[in-house]
Amino acid sequence: MESKKVFDVAIIGAGAAGLQLLYEFRQNQAVSPARILLVDSGDRSEKSWCFWQGSNPIFEKLIEKKWNALAFIDEHGREIRAAIDPMRYHYISSDTFYQYFFTEFIPAQEGIEVVRGMAKEVKSNTENFDIWMADGEHYAAKQVFDSRFNPADRLTHAGLYQHFYGKFIRMDSPMFDAEVATLMDFSLEQTDASFSCFHYVLPFSETYALLETTVFSTQGYELAKYEAIWKSYWDRRFGGIAFDLVKEEKGSIPMSISSFALEDNGIIRIGTAAGQVKASTGYAFTRMNEDARQIVGGMSRKKPTRFRFYDRLLLSIINNDTAKIPFVMSQLFKSVSMPRILAFLDEKSTLSQEIKIFSQLPIRLFLKHAWKNFFSAK
Ligand SMILES: Cc1cc2nc3c(=O)[nH]c(=O)nc-3n(C[C@H](O)[C@H](O)[C@H](O)COP(=O)(O)OP(=O)(O)OC[C@H]3O[C@@H](n4cnc5c(N)ncnc54)[C@H](O)[C@@H]3O)c2cc1C
Repeated sequence: MESKKVFDVAIIGAGAAGLQLLYEFRQNQAVSPARILLVDSGDRSEKSWCFWQGSNPIFEKLIEKKWNALAFIDEHGREIRAAIDPMRYHYISSDTFYQYFFTEFIPAQEGIEVVRGMAKEVKSNTENFDIWMADGEHYAAKQVFDSRFNPADRLTHAGLYQHFYGKFIRMDSPMFDAEVATLMDFSLEQTDASFSCFHYVLPFSETYALLETTVFSTQGYELAKYEAIWKSYWDRRFGGIAFDLVKEEKGSIPMSISSFALEDNGIIRIGTAAGQVKASTGYAFTRMNEDARQIVGGMSRKKPTRFRFYDRLLLSIINNDTAKIPFVMSQLFKSVSMPRILAFLDEKSTLSQEIKIFSQLPIRLFLKHAWKNFFSAK
């Protein structure tokens, strides 16, 4: 049998997690593996990666737009707007990210081999791992980082998803305030008892923006429904005026606190597959960056457990008291400063700050769900 080249590391999935890990390996020459295999099936669905950071944000040259103020709009249409200095809310499009990696970063590196194809199975043998591809090809590596999201993990304890439907639109005349990104807008009446829904608006200029319908739901993706909601939002909030559709964005992420294993028979999981998407918010980009740094630096990847409990509380409310979500969110944004909220969502707040935050929220509702979850099996 023909002897195969053995890679030091194989990364399955060249998405947000896989490429950030590749990047971090090459930033740390002391531990960077000489030969890296990058396997990707080529799912290049459009994604917008937003995150907040202060000076020297990650991938600064790929950031297409930054905002220094954020807005929240409650169910009555009242807006809370606040600067987030010294932080900025950053936007990187997945297109720009992939473009950078595949035309600039990877070609400039030695020892990275890119394979286009569907990884089907990873098996460990006595010395290495064999990666079997759908086309029958196989590769060997000493260590495997796998970002394939196992469909079995979709059966989460809540079965809850965050579904996205967005449109990048261009107008003839100024329509948006390009200095402020709207994180959540609950002003559109909730029309479906089975899910809660809000919109976010990322204005890249006064005439160009991404408007996205976001739905917390246990149901599958319902495109026609979300398109109709998007249109209602546009009609109500922006008068339904004509626009040019530049492109659309669709996607779903699991909202789950069920334990995603960080490792599976020696195969190291990364990204969504490793539970790096924050269960209650869907933010993941900086979490994956931190995770990549921890892997490369040989540090513990575990996160403080109390944040899992907070996530569980919020998921429990979304799941069982979904109609109360707009109220809970407006209480949060009304009573807690934007930077404090961002630190909390980043899991960088202190326990005393968290107690203060919870004291501002509908306490009975949280106690009800805390009770329910404290005694639940998981
Ligand atoms: C529409 C949308 C908007 C989002 N917005 C934000 C945001 O603003 N901020 C934020 O922090 N997070 C956001 N997220 C969440 C999260 O950051 C993204 O989902 C992120 O892309 C997840 O990274 P990942 O590496 O786990 O998966 P992906 O980025 O999806 O990458 C997985 C890669 O694996 C490849 N692959 C899959 N199966 C195989 C296989 N069998 N063999 C080989 N390759 C395979 C795919 O081709 C893909 O390239 C958003 C998610 C969605 C869906």
